[in-house]
Amino acid sequence: MFKNLSKNLISFLAILLIVAALFAFTSEEFGFFQEPERISPRELSEKINNEEIAEIILVGNNIEVILEDESVMTTRKEPDISLMEFLERWGAEEEKVRALSITYEEEPDWGWLSTLLIILLPLLFLLIFFQLIIKQAKGGANSALDFSKAKARLFGEGGMPKKDVDFEDVAGLEEAKEELKEIVEFLKDPKRFDEVGAKIPKGVLLTGPPGTGKTLLARAISGEADAPFFEVSGSEFIELFVGVGSGRVRDLFQKAKSKQPCIVYIDELDAIGRKRGAGLGGGNDEREQTLNQILVELDGFDKDTKVVVLASTNRPDVLDPALLRPGRFDRKIILDSPDLKARKKILEIHTRNKPLDEDVDLQEVAERTPGFSGADLENLTNEAAILTARREKKKVSQEELLESIEKVLLGPERKSHILSKKEKEISAYHEAGHALVSSLLAETQEVRKVSIISRGQAAGYTLKMPMEEKRIKSKSEFLSEIAVLLGGYVTEKYKYKETTTGAANDLEKASKYARKLVKKYGMSSLGPISYGGEREHVFLGEEISEEKNYSEEIASKIDKEISKIIKRAEKQAAKLIKKNKDKLEELAQVLIEKETIEKEEFERIMNKA
Ligand code: ADP
Ligand code: MG
Ligand code: ZN
Repeated sequence: MFKNLSKNLISFLAILLIVAALFAFTSEEFGFFQEPERISPRELSEKINNEEIAEIILVGNNIEVILEDESVMTTRKEPDISLMEFLERWGAEEEKVRALSITYEEEPDWGWLSTLLIILLPLLFLLIFFQLIIKQAKGGANSALDFSKAKARLFGEGGMPKKDVDFEDVAGLEEAKEELKEIVEFLKDPKRFDEVGAKIPKGVLLTGPPGTGKTLLARAISGEADAPFFEVSGSEFIELFVGVGSGRVRDLFQKAKSKQPCIVYIDELDAIGRKRGAGLGGGNDEREQTLNQILVELDGFDKDTKVVVLASTNRPDVLDPALLRPGRFDRKIILDSPDLKARKKILEIHTRNKPLDEDVDLQEVAERTPGFSGADLENLTNEAAILTARREKKKVSQEELLESIEKVLLGPERKSHILSKKEKEISAYHEAGHALVSSLLAETQEVRKVSIISRGQAAGYTLKMPMEEKRIKSKSEFLSEIAVLLGGYVTEKYKYKETTTGAANDLEKASKYARKLVKKYGMSSLGPISYGGEREHVFLGEEISEEKNYSEEIASKIDKEISKIIKRAEKQAAKLIKKNKDKLEELAQVLIEKETIEKEEFERIMNKA
């Protein structure tokens, strides 16, 4: 880009120089030819009187004097008098002047040229300027004033060096990798999939907290598949000029299609993919157009298009629902913050190229960094190396690694959720409580994973098939779900005799479910009446616009019903926890030790007599 800019600058300067030179040629002051010697009018008159002059040539007001000895001199007369008057004024004798041979020559008229130049030069500059802009807007990839081209960085072919990242460089994230393998195989050998008529998802959304390796994983896919990789950040579509974003999208996909099979990776999708038409926060026409264009491009893929679009975001909740519809980004892959095992592996990856002392124990470092993301851990190993260098040591030792933990913790970009030892313990019991209640109730789905490593805002999580994914839910399912949600809260109360703020999210959800049960689904003693049409408008936020179409009397009945449901669920959960306190203890201990429990181990603990 800069190379191009400087090239333009150079040609511009060259033109300027030529014009200046032209001026110099025509101007008298900067005469290009050597000017003859000057002679003063008085001297000339004297020489005339002494008959030393052979010839005088008058060109306009310029007097060229040729002496007897053939040397040439010049002078000028005033414009409005004749030569005779001029010479006499300076003392030349009349008859001596008459005796001279005088030639009158027409003055070459440069006037028209300078007039022309004055008119044409600005025009010329304007022309050159526009030409530059037009040329760059039309063709010439990534040039300086190129607005509508996507700034996608293409790895692999030409330009950028190939990214040599593959799945080996990504620690943990086993589930995500497993899901992505299919895409890798498709990119490697699309024909095989074609032949059996298999369609591969064209849009895959990677979500997860910052620094968990979304970008890294996307690059690893292209490395694994050995396919061209177009990387572009969502924010790069947003520009000052309306229409540029959508133009860039069009251009990006066009480029990609010419290189298929390949990967298009849109980082930070939320920058453009936010819900459209939301009055809050100011609408942005440009963003909507860009988003629309992405949707158009995704819909325009036919079965022969071998472009896989990956996108990443840490705010899947703000994405426009249209993006998540089938045929678009319908495959969602969630990246977790690393657990103990993954953290150790990440540390191993990032200390590979650093000389380590024998006393280094990465297990210990991993144990002391719950809540660190992959990026944090990379930062940690780097800090340790810096410390080592500053201490003029040759090898990184455990001391530096442990010191760096604090450095990263206190660092300016420290994100939230780092668990202290006590918090870790409380989280372990809380999550064990959820999982226990969930597995003991018939109506809930099986527990797939329990973890105390924060995902999003919740301190930990118990992974089941989420309730939201079922289309039709029964009352007993709702009640069980509420009991499970209260499982964490109840366990904290049981174990510590008091509760923490960690349950806030659960309580909010449980209350919402209970409210819906009563008001929307007619599942309480109030009967099959829908109270308060919940309008799901983004316009003013769902909650705000809820209209109240019932009396105060009903309102208090609703509140009573809700609290009845919640109380009953709490009692149910508490009973289950108390009855299975041994299992609770075991689950919690394993969680404290390993931070995650996979399905198999969970079932083993639950099935013990
Ligand atoms: P995100 O895009 O999710 O915000 P990145 O992919 O940019 O995070 O991760 C930042 C850096 O952290 C990566 O370059 C990598 O060095 C390191 N990192 C993150 N997760 C992992 C992981 N699972 N394995 C190895 N390194 C990781
Ligand atoms: Mg990223
Ligand atoms: Zn909880």
